Amino acid sequence: MIDSHTHSLFSHDSFEISAKLIEQAISLGLDYFAITNHLDNDCRYNYIGLGNIEPLDVNGWISEIKRLKEEYGNRINLALGLEIGFDIPSQKDDEKVLKKYPFDVIINSVHNVSSTDIYYPSFFKDKEKNEIYTKYLLTVKESLSAYDYDIIGHIGYIMRKAPYKDKIMKYKDHSDIIDEILALTIKKNKTIELNSHSEGTGLFCFPPEDILKRYRQLGGENIVFGSDAHRAKDICRNYEYAKELALNCGFEYWTCYKGRKIMKIGIR
Ligand SMILES: [Zn+2]
Ligand SMILES: [Zn+2]
Repeated sequence: MIDSHTHSLFSHDSFEISAKLIEQAISLGLDYFAITNHLDNDCRYNYIGLGNIEPLDVNGWISEIKRLKEEYGNRINLALGLEIGFDIPSQKDDEKVLKKYPFDVIINSVHNVSSTDIYYPSFFKDKEKNEIYTKYLLTVKESLSAYDYDIIGHIGYIMRKAPYKDKIMKYKDHSDIIDEILALTIKKNKTIELNSHSEGTGLFCFPPEDILKRYRQLGGENIVFGSDAHRAKDICRNYEYAKELALNCGFEYWTCYKGRKIMKIGIR
């Protein structure tokens, strides 16, 4: 098993110490484990949502990375990195951090659309599903031009708090824009994340199967599993479902990153 997306208390929304996550990953016998704390520079710009969140203590996280690698590096295949919240105005801030520090893996995620956090129900007020999902997907497409990253985080995240009766994002409803996203992902040799922090979506993990199948059909091979755990007990949640889904869609390996280099681990 692997888990490529987790958070420790360096993230504003986690209270778990990094060592506890790693101990749990070791006890599960993971072949690869990543902690990817939030770098949410996007929240600084015309942002409606969480309010004044504590920014990532970058220097503190870097010192912690060094310490954790020394302590656990020979017991587990450990990767340490960031989940960057994408927005156009924050690119210059992200670039400074990425140029300065050596991370193993970078996840690029869309949490905000039009500078508004899509985790909050107010975002959906008086908006129709098709219109708002299209807007979200256009932002995901825009995010593919971000400065530097390896993995495209949780495509379909908008489903989690969407108020619609049928909230599943369907390939057929947005085929043109989804095809553009998938083709660009393949062209840039990036990796799509199968995210199992799926409460509220009605799925065990996402993006949904029809989108994954289309990605594979277009020639996409790079896919990775991430639980997005903010607590040790959630590491690898729904892994078996994600594994079966990935195999069903024709994927053969998880694409992981260490020192920003691709590592392929057979899905089993
Ligand atoms: Zn995220
Ligand atoms: Zn996350």
